[in-house]
Amino acid sequence: MFGFSSIQQYHSSLNGGTVTCLQAVEYFLRQIEERKHLNAYVNVYADEAISLAMNLDTKRKRGDKIGKLHGVVVCIKDVLAYKGHPLTAASRILEGFTSVYSATAIERLLAEEAIIIGNSNCDEFAMGSTNENSVYGKVLNANDESKIPGGSSGGSAVAVQADLCMVSLGSDTGGSVRQPADFCGIIGFKPTYGRISRHGLIAYASSFDQIGIFGRNIADVALVLEVIAGSDEFDSTVSHQPSAPYSTLLAEYKKYRIAYFDEALNHPSLDPEISRSIKGLLEKLKTHGHEVRAVDFDLIDHVVPAYYVLTTAEASSNLSRYDGVRYGFRDPGETDLVEMYKGTRSEAFGKEVKRRIMLGTFVLSAGYYDAYFTKAQKVRKLLYDQIQLIFNDLDCIILPTAPSTAFNIGDKMDDPISMYLADIYTVMANLVGVPAISLPLFKHTNGMPFGLQVLASRFDELSLLRLSNQLMQQ
Ligand code: GLN
Repeated sequence: MFGFSSIQQYHSSLNGGTVTCLQAVEYFLRQIEERKHLNAYVNVYADEAISLAMNLDTKRKRGDKIGKLHGVVVCIKDVLAYKGHPLTAASRILEGFTSVYSATAIERLLAEEAIIIGNSNCDEFAMGSTNENSVYGKVLNANDESKIPGGSSGGSAVAVQADLCMVSLGSDTGGSVRQPADFCGIIGFKPTYGRISRHGLIAYASSFDQIGIFGRNIADVALVLEVIAGSDEFDSTVSHQPSAPYSTLLAEYKKYRIAYFDEALNHPSLDPEISRSIKGLLEKLKTHGHEVRAVDFDLIDHVVPAYYVLTTAEASSNLSRYDGVRYGFRDPGETDLVEMYKGTRSEAFGKEVKRRIMLGTFVLSAGYYDAYFTKAQKVRKLLYDQIQLIFNDLDCIILPTAPSTAFNIGDKMDDPISMYLADIYTVMANLVGVPAISLPLFKHTNGMPFGLQVLASRFDELSLLRLSNQLMQQ
């Protein structure tokens, strides 16, 4: 029987001849079929995955050099373009749309011989925290099926959690990789803004969006990062900062200088048990010789408002391209152009997406622009400067990932404000563009897992992954 624990272990079994890529693919296809009710996948590319696996097996047995992700079974969120495959952002407005090119990250996975087994369910246009805003219906948390898996990359998280692939890709604009990882008990990593090309990633809020990675161990996440990171002529915002062979550099054990915020750990919205667990861990880190320091952070209650003003503004502009002319769905009942735009957008966008387009249009409108948009940009700048100062002296910041563990399906659907406020701990990394990770270190007495969030300074993924590796091993 095939079993997966890490890419390195899988590769040594492949080289030792005890498993084949075909066996791996067949195993995951069976798993996907058996756990179909979780609704993690939107499309499964079974025949393609099987034939690619057979080719890889032949190639390996011939003695050819193998790719870094040889035979690694990957699931991608339905916001990433994969040439010739469906792409809908879980929205009716992209019904029937097929990608005409592949995202740079996808090209790089394929060049290193990964097998993309399917694409995963998510919140429509990555807007949400529960995966309930999807035209394909909700995704279930495999740990307790009455609970949400988190969002917006809920399908990609459950695909790793429920053993339906080895690693997966999501997107993280305000926490959509870290928060579902927290709720599902796996690792979720968001790189520095600009570390991974956004070419071929459907835009939600372009100055926040990054592709992120889900995995079960740090080495796998690091390996996927080193494959997909780096400059790209198709994305002018991607950095030319050199990336590193992260996966080979993890084993460095040192004492870190760690910051935490009392304002975050004593926040009234935080579950007291989560607060206690993280404080306990900080104490332990101190006794292990790390320098652990409380830092003042009085901006905490401004991060969510600033995030929702800026991201809805960007979204209202990004989503204007879905007009019924160029992609997907078109309202068939209208012959007048403006009526056709209205009909298409009213019918095919979901409720949450419409709410955000309206909010974003409002904050950008004449008369309100300075009161909302300009003000939120100022908050973003203040945050950026404060965080920069912290990283002048310290290596990382520790925060909870989410204020509670995964809640019940339906619980917050009628209360968007409380849904937004629950993003309090994740949006900061996106507002300031730093790398962040959620590590599955804890289990709540309610039976659900929860994570620890670690943030590092811009482009210091290496320290973030090394410290994470250390924390996971302890
Ligand atoms: N929950 C956040 C939102 O709805 C995060 C979304 C994301 O990261 N894509 O905006």
